[in-house]
Amino acid sequence: MTAGLSVVGLSHSFGDHPVVCDLSLDVAPGEIVSLLGPSGCGKTTTLRLVAGLEIVQRGDIRLDGELVAGRGVHVEPERRGVGLVFQDFALFPHLTVAENVAFGLRQARDVARRRAIELLERVGLADRAGHYPHHLSGGEQQRVALVRALAPAPRLMLMDEPFSGLDVRLRDQVREDTAALLAATGTATLLVTHDPEEAMRIADRIAVMRNGRIVQVGSPATLYDSPADASVARFFSETNSLRSRAGAGAAPTPWGPLPVSAAIAEGTAVDILVRPEALSIGPVGKGVTAVVSTVRPLGGTRLIRLRIEGMQEPWLARVPARVDVSPGEAVAVALDHAHVHVFAATEASLPR
Ligand code: ATP
Repeated sequence: MTAGLSVVGLSHSFGDHPVVCDLSLDVAPGEIVSLLGPSGCGKTTTLRLVAGLEIVQRGDIRLDGELVAGRGVHVEPERRGVGLVFQDFALFPHLTVAENVAFGLRQARDVARRRAIELLERVGLADRAGHYPHHLSGGEQQRVALVRALAPAPRLMLMDEPFSGLDVRLRDQVREDTAALLAATGTATLLVTHDPEEAMRIADRIAVMRNGRIVQVGSPATLYDSPADASVARFFSETNSLRSRAGAGAAPTPWGPLPVSAAIAEGTAVDILVRPEALSIGPVGKGVTAVVSTVRPLGGTRLIRLRIEGMQEPWLARVPARVDVSPGEAVAVALDHAHVHVFAATEASLPR
C-alpha cells in the first residue's frame, strides 16, 4: 500500500475539449506538491477530480492505497478524507471562528470544541474563537479556513490558490505558517497555483502543467536549474534568448562556444536561454561590450537593460545593488554558464 495520494493515467474532457491528459502524480504524507501552470492548463480540474467534485472519466485515484475514483468507483467527496481550502476561504459567516473549525467534526460538541481551540492555538488564534469571520483580517480568515480543513485530520489537503486573496506581505507570513502546520501534522498536500514564486516558496516538489499534461516534476531547485524545455525555463523567471546553431558539441555565442547536449544533432537550430542573474557587468575590456539603456533599482539588486554588441533585442542583467552604472555607459558583460540553458529550437520557443 502506498500512503498518501496516487494518481495514475488521469484524463478528463469537457465535451470534446480535453482538459487533463494522462496525468500521473504521487504526493507522500507530509509532502507539499504544487501543481503549477498558466491559466486554463487544467490544474483546478485535476484538483476537483481528486476531491471527488468531478466524476473520473479515465484513470485511477488512490488515497492511502484505497481506490477512491476510477474503474467505475466514485467515493463521495465527504467520504474521501480530504480537506479543501480555496481562495475565498468560504467560512460560514453566521458561525463563530470555533464553530467554523468544529463544523466538520463528527464528535460530541465539547470534544469538537476542544479540538477546534487546540488547532486555533497552533495558529495563534485561540483568543478569536468567539469572534465572527467578518471581525477577522484576511490572513486570520485564511488561517481559520486552514485549521477547519485540518480539524478532521484529512488524509490529503487540497488547496486552490489559497493565498492569492492576501496582500503581499501577509501572504509570505501566512504561507510559511501554513507550510509549518502541514509539515507538523504530516499531511499530504496538493496545492494549485499559477505563481512560480509561490510554488518555489512552499512546495517540496513542483509539477509543471501545460495543456493538461505534466511537463516536468521535481524540486524547486531542479526545475529552476535544469528545466525540461524552454517554456519551463521561461515560466520561472524572465530570460534573455539567443538563437544559434549546434556545431560538434557546442554552439557559438558572443561569449564563445557553449556546450550543447549530445541529444541535439549537429546543425540543429538552438535557443540559448540566459537568466538575468547569469550576466555580470564590469569595465569595458573583460567580456562582450554593451551599452546600458536603463537601470532599475530593486532593493538588494538592480535590473539593467543592455544593448549588447551584435544582438538585436535588449538584454536584462540582474546585478547586486552595489554595481554602479548609469544609462549610456559602455560596459563589458560576462556570462556565468551555470544559469544558461540550451534547447533545440521549436516554434514555441522562438525568441520573444
Ligand atoms: P485557472 O488557473 O484559470 O483556474 P486552471 O489551470 O485551473 O486555470 P481549469 O480551471 O482546470 O484550469 O480549466 C481548464 C479548462 O477547462 C479551461 O479551458 C476551462 O474553461 C475548462 N473548464 C473548466 N471547467 C469546466 C466545466 N465545468 N465545463 C466546461 N469547461 C470547463
